[in-house]
Amino acid sequence: MTHPLHDHTRPALPRMIIRGLFRRCAWCGGKGSFFSSWYKKEAQCQTCGINWERGYEGYELGAATMGVFMTFGSIIGWMVISVIFGVALVPLLVVAGVMAIGIPIISYPLTYGVWQGVDLFLRPPSPEDIAQAEEWLKVKS
Ligand SMILES: [Zn+2]
Repeated sequence: MTHPLHDHTRPALPRMIIRGLFRRCAWCGGKGSFFSSWYKKEAQCQTCGINWERGYEGYELGAATMGVFMTFGSIIGWMVISVIFGVALVPLLVVAGVMAIGIPIISYPLTYGVWQGVDLFLRPPSPEDIAQAEEWLKVKS
């Protein structure tokens, strides 16, 4: 018997990315499913049981790339706003420096969620991935 969470079709990419930005599983929308605390990762979604890496050894690199995009994107956005509104150079650089340190720390779990959405878009779950998730859910319950 298939778990109802595995019957649905793949959500649209924007929806999966937004779910990731809110620390939800990109596949099922389960709340805080990748992380049991802000920095402690679990191997599977605690709601649907889908494995995050799904045999892809470079998964961490993708999440790190999402972190770079989020951090640099925010800093570039800050710099553009600063130039438009004529912010002095020293405050501009101090805020950019704080952002360069703070955003990766704060957004760490979000980068994994966003990357999971992109990864699920590029590599939809295989029947083996679904079977592994079903097995994990049986053992959990
Ligand atoms: Zn899930």
